[in-house]
Parts: sequence; C-alpha cells; structure tokens
Amino acid sequence: MKEPKTLQEAIIYFSDKQNAVDFVVDLRWSEGITCPKCGSKELYYVKTRYLWQCKNKECKKQFTVKTGTIFEDSPLGLDKWLCAIWMIANAKNGISSYEIGRALGMTQKSAWFVLHRIRYAMQQGSLEKLSGDVEADETYIGGKAENMHKRTREAMGIQGRGTVGKAIVFGLLERTTGDKASKAKTKVVPNTKKKTLQPEIRRSVETDSNLYTDALKSYQGMEEEFVHQAVDHATEYVRGNVHTNGIENYWSLFKRTLRGTYVGCEVDHLGSYLDEQTFRFNNRYGNDAERFSLVLGSVAGKRLTYKQLIIKRTFKQLNFLKKLI
Ligand SMILES: [Zn+2]
Repeated sequence: MKEPKTLQEAIIYFSDKQNAVDFVVDLRWSEGITCPKCGSKELYYVKTRYLWQCKNKECKKQFTVKTGTIFEDSPLGLDKWLCAIWMIANAKNGISSYEIGRALGMTQKSAWFVLHRIRYAMQQGSLEKLSGDVEADETYIGGKAENMHKRTREAMGIQGRGTVGKAIVFGLLERTTGDKASKAKTKVVPNTKKKTLQPEIRRSVETDSNLYTDALKSYQGMEEEFVHQAVDHATEYVRGNVHTNGIENYWSLFKRTLRGTYVGCEVDHLGSYLDEQTFRFNNRYGNDAERFSLVLGSVAGKRLTYKQLIIKRTFKQLNFLKKLI
C-alpha cells in the first residue's frame, strides 16, 4: 500500500499497526534502530509486541517506537496519534480539542493533551537566523480589562485599562526573497522594554540585515548592528520599503485563529498556540504529507507530561483565562 497523501488515506494506512510502526521507525531511526538508553544497534525484536530489547548486557533496555517521544506513556494507539498529527499539521486555522476528540474517538481531555504534545513537537527552537529584509513587531493578545467584572479585575490586581492584563507576543518576519518564502519567529515576552526585545532580535537576526520596525523606543539604538528603519504609525504606515505589514498580517491571522478555534485559549499556553501557527506558516508551501512527516520527525527526544502542562495554572490565571480573547 502506498504512503498516504490525504487524511482519508492516512486513517486507512495507519489503522494497520505495522504500517504505523514502520512509518515512525523510518523517520526516527533513518540510520537504523538504536537503543535510546545506550545507543547500541544490537537488538532483539519481539514482533508480537512491537518491542525491542537491547542486547548490551549492562543495558537490556526494552523499548518501543513510542519510548522517548511525545507518545511515551500514552495509552492511545499510534493510529490515533498519527491521525491527530495529520489533522493539526494541516488545519489552516487550527483545530480544537473538541473537534479532535469527536473525529478520532477520544475524550476532550485526552485530545487536549494530545494537541499540546503535538504542538511541543512543532516547536522550531532557534534554527537558522533570519536575514535580508526582516520586520519586527510586538502585539497584545486578549485580556480586555475594561470588559472584566470588577471582582475579577481586583482578584488579578489589575488597575486601570488599556494594555494591562494582556499577554505580549513578539514576532520577527523575514520577507520573501526570490523563491524563498517569507518566514516568521514568534515568542511570548514579559514586556516590550528595550532589554527584552533587542536581545531577541540579536539572537534571531543576522547582523547587517535590514530591520524594519515601528517607532517604539525599545527598537532604538541598533544602528551599528542592523540597517534599521522605522515607520511612525502616528503619521504613516508605509514609506517605500519601510513597513511592518508582513508581521502585522501574521498577527491578524493568529488572532483570527485564536478567536475562531481556540476560544478558551489559556494565557500560559499562548506560546504553544504560537508554535503551532508559526510551524504551519513557515511550512505553508509544502503539501499535507510533507507537513505531517516534518512534525512526526520531531517527536523524538521530547517529553511533556500532563503535570508539566497544568502545573503553571493558578487560580488567578484561571480567572484571567475566562476573559481572555
Ligand atoms: Zn541499550
């Protein structure tokens, strides 16, 4: 049977456990199956249990294709995992845990956990630096303090209105050059101070690149490292090549997804929704099967336990969530 090209083909293909295991094995161990504990390639295979055992007498580690990946300790079958990856890697506007749960026959709670683990695999980290024409911008997400009940506002310690209580996201976008599509890097930041934003730029943008920003003071003073030009949005939005339209379009796309799909998006998980969106954006010209394989190729070496996911949530934040977005 040919490798799947569509969701429907993926569902049929991965319903065969051997197909699912072989597919993950090929992506994970392209150089041959390796013991995740000691690195040995001398292994026994227990075919009936899809299980390997390390021949190294000091190790004897037993493992499956799930060991040491985002699938570890999950009672869900690979068939469900792989179809969930297919769906989230390719859902243009994201997909909610309710939808995944209904479509693949699991509880919303399981689906929520599955989605967060997959987003974790989508995290691209600090890959190569951006270069050429790069736009930098920051945006505020959710938390309209003025719409909150007075008690909620007080519980959160919010005084006044405006941007207080919102989450701040910082983004960089490398513009299209030739046949190289534009790509983005995004991150939740604690504030928009110079000492927060400038290190992010230095870390992610090659020196001597063209840097385009708005007139925010935090961006001032980088002339020695970058060719920096700013537009003051109070008077103009575009001056020839100088604008931040690319990253602003990215923000509107992200906010639309948050409003439309992740109505209950929690502030402490905002970063993982960003990872998901940025992954799809940066890989938007690939086909569904390619995006699927890219995510699946990143599942190893990543663990995310349920406890890690929920540990950050406090009562205060829970109150905040209800009013967010
Ligand atoms: Zn071993």
